Amino acid sequence: MFENLSEKLQRAFKNLRGQGTITEENIQEALREIRVALLEADVNLNVVKELIEHIRAKAVGQEVMTALSPTEQVIKIVRDELVALLGKDTARFQFSSRPPTVILMAGLQGSGKTTTSGKLAAWLQKGGHRPMLVSVDVYRPAAREQLKVVANSIKAKIYEGDTKGEEAGTPLVERLAKEARREAVISGCDTLIVDTAGRLHIDTDLMDEMSMLKSLLAPQEILFVADAMTGQDAVRSAEEFHKRLALTGVVLTKMDGDARGGAALSIRHVTGQPVKFIGLGEKPDAFEPFHPDRIVSRILG
Ligand code: GDP
Repeated sequence: MFENLSEKLQRAFKNLRGQGTITEENIQEALREIRVALLEADVNLNVVKELIEHIRAKAVGQEVMTALSPTEQVIKIVRDELVALLGKDTARFQFSSRPPTVILMAGLQGSGKTTTSGKLAAWLQKGGHRPMLVSVDVYRPAAREQLKVVANSIKAKIYEGDTKGEEAGTPLVERLAKEARREAVISGCDTLIVDTAGRLHIDTDLMDEMSMLKSLLAPQEILFVADAMTGQDAVRSAEEFHKRLALTGVVLTKMDGDARGGAALSIRHVTGQPVKFIGLGEKPDAFEPFHPDRIVSRILG
């Protein structure tokens, strides 16, 4: 994860290390290298500008700490600023005081929405919860079948419903969602994870259907599932979904294959919504809450 970014930042610090004292001049050079490293990692331009300004202000105006070498001081500033950018603390998952807690999973096709729905169910089970899964992707029978396979593999409850002979469309989505919530209550499930239809592109029908589900289910969490490897495309989609739906958080998938880190470092700043979980592989347990400090340690080594 983040190998490219990590390597380039290390290079910037290494050049600084060769200097006995830190002068305005070599700070400028290090900042330039950090800037290039972030841009090459596909971090959003505004995020890079702001980050560099913060680091510059702190590095130039800093009090000299005798315990740290000048280079260590710069690394510490970069570390603190990256953690602040990612949100300092791990964002909390919201539970409803009146179960079931409903979690609406949003995202484009292929982002990892179905896999993540299963991972989230497994994570909830581990925490002592009783999740129920439902897929309201009535347009793609294969997607509903995929969720069933995932649910069975982790022994989670799934509401399948009867869709035979029904026309695929929003009324069917609405019926399935209502039935699933009722079923969750009847069977004592405290959480309902709703895997929604994904499209290749954002379109009006998709957004209208998501808005309908939001009003119908009043979910505690609307999680946008984004493929980290798609960089700024993921950030732009998250922004669009947030405008229409008011997301409560983001799940970044495929972090195991993301050498650059552009989406991870930009998405919170651009959308104002925290990354709540990350996906680190295809298996149900390759999933964890997002800890900004741990991620930054991975980047800075
Ligand atoms: P959906 O269309 O959004 O529901 O996406 P899927 O859940 O079907 O996932 C698309 C592909 O991405 C599948 O091959 C998944 O196994 C894979 N995938 C999902 N999450 C991760 C992840 O965190 N890491 C890796 N390496 N692959 C993932």
